Amino acid sequence: MCGIVGYAGQSGNAKEIIIDGLKRLEYRGYDSSGIALISNGKLEVRKRAGRIANLEEMIKDESLNSKMGIGHTRWATHGAPSDINSHPHTNKDGSIAVVHNGILENYVELRQWLIEEHGIEFRSEVDTEVIVHLISIYYDGNLEDAVFKALQRMRGAYAIAAVCQDDPEKIVAFRRNAPLIAGIGRGCNFIASDIPAILRYVKEIYLIENNEMVIVTKDDIKIYDIDRNEVHRDIFHVTWDAESAEKNGYKHFMLKEIHEQPKGLYETLRRRIDDNGMINLDGICLTKEQLENFNRIYIVACGTAYHAGLVGKFAIEKMAQIAVEVEVASEFRYRDPFVDDKTLFIAISQSGETSDTLEALREAKRKGARIISVVNVVGSSVARESDDVFYTWAGPEIAVASTKAYTTQLMSMYIIALYMGITKGTIDKEYYESFMEDLKEIPDKAKKVLQLESMLASLARDLYKNEQIFFIGRGPDAGVSYEGSLKLKEISYINSFAIAAGELKHGTIALIEKDIVVIALATQDKLYEKMLSNIQEVKARGAYVIGMATENNKEIEMQADKVIYIPECRDELTPLLSVIPLQLLAYYIAKERGCDIDKPKNLAKSVTVE
Ligand code: GLU
Repeated sequence: MCGIVGYAGQSGNAKEIIIDGLKRLEYRGYDSSGIALISNGKLEVRKRAGRIANLEEMIKDESLNSKMGIGHTRWATHGAPSDINSHPHTNKDGSIAVVHNGILENYVELRQWLIEEHGIEFRSEVDTEVIVHLISIYYDGNLEDAVFKALQRMRGAYAIAAVCQDDPEKIVAFRRNAPLIAGIGRGCNFIASDIPAILRYVKEIYLIENNEMVIVTKDDIKIYDIDRNEVHRDIFHVTWDAESAEKNGYKHFMLKEIHEQPKGLYETLRRRIDDNGMINLDGICLTKEQLENFNRIYIVACGTAYHAGLVGKFAIEKMAQIAVEVEVASEFRYRDPFVDDKTLFIAISQSGETSDTLEALREAKRKGARIISVVNVVGSSVARESDDVFYTWAGPEIAVASTKAYTTQLMSMYIIALYMGITKGTIDKEYYESFMEDLKEIPDKAKKVLQLESMLASLARDLYKNEQIFFIGRGPDAGVSYEGSLKLKEISYINSFAIAAGELKHGTIALIEKDIVVIALATQDKLYEKMLSNIQEVKARGAYVIGMATENNKEIEMQADKVIYIPECRDELTPLLSVIPLQLLAYYIAKERGCDIDKPKNLAKSVTVE
């Protein structure tokens, strides 16, 4: 989604450094970009709709020698993507520039006030322009004073960064419910919305908290709270390198990340097993008494993470014997859900910055729930606002379509369920130990599934011209079907739905006709025969069926036109394997269709707006 990069240093190449930082945020999805530099004592702003390459083209012949500036990738919320609506936005005389991630909620009223009381003529439709005029009105020789005053009037969830040609040594940035970090360089310092933007230059950063202002100069980084008290912050050492955020020889990040799943699964499990082979939730305190006190669990998430929750429900209900409801965060947060201190709330988010999930979490917290989050990004907002965090060890996920985050989220669900079950006494030691043994075999089995790649690439060549592909499954397979369908539509733009197979006959089967492709997941021993009947139902209406089953269940060959086999494995755990062929199939279909796989249209990696 939107990104901010700022640099204050000694060399004259601020332009190159900021553009490089913006490019590293490209993977998050954006629609325009821009840069503001203080060059020869003057504020220079250049911005363009479309790819960063457009901006680069615009400025390639300009020297724009500068030691400091700010840049932005925009994901439009107010006003269409256009040159004029791109950030940075400037005040009337062009002396102050602001970049902004998020939304200024009371911009209409402030805009009106600025027009009526101060005669401001607005150039764009963007909420951000209100911010820069507001700062300008309060400016009296000191940029942070003006920003502080402006903040008192601003509502919403956002991060901003401002520079001023008359106070030219500093970048003033502020965070309110949108990510912001400051990077500590040598003879230079940075601000950014995300770590990968500046990872090439710094490994030591400060995580800026909500309602904090950070003032960055080439020599210094100072953090203040909302009352302007200086705040001491410990340095956060980033342990992953820029290289791990690169493609490593794969054509796309998505393919690289699909192949990283055995490692992510292994790491997520390994880090939760102690020397005796038992699960150790390390720091997450869940006692028998606490578990007995919970009478319901909500798993709340969005998109792919929500699908991980759907599978998690099966595992937790079965092992911990507590009722689990899974809900999309954007619904949960607005429906006044029944939550009290007997509720356990589990938030799942890859980025830990998903705005809807964060707000749902806050709602549950206000009502007294205990909060555990499952997130991939250390120090992210969801992680920080939870009582306990279960980190997935997927490593940075760059492709917009989530793959390894999903499977490591599933792994986390199983670990949490197993731990709850054994602690509460609702599963016995024998079950626990055999489940653990099976879990440990999963990374190797996932490697085996990856060997299906060339078969799936060739299947994709048969399928890619279809404009509709449907998915069916039962039990945990239904959850995986939703995810397979989402993967396909988000990167290949093929119309797709997924439905619990038993529900098909209640309406949706009307869509099944000759040659419609149906992918039918039948990996659950317990539900195998039922699924074979559902396959018959769609076959009878002319569908072309691609079945999926575990290796020993061969009868499916009699019903389906093609079969994808995954290794034998207990019913509960098949989602960890069955999703992988669906990811690969979606990938190769999108590739055949010539789609922009890592940056699908209309989508963004971390969804920090409502
Ligand atoms: N609301 C601002 C706009 O529409 C910022 C969007 C963003 O976060 O990129 O430009």
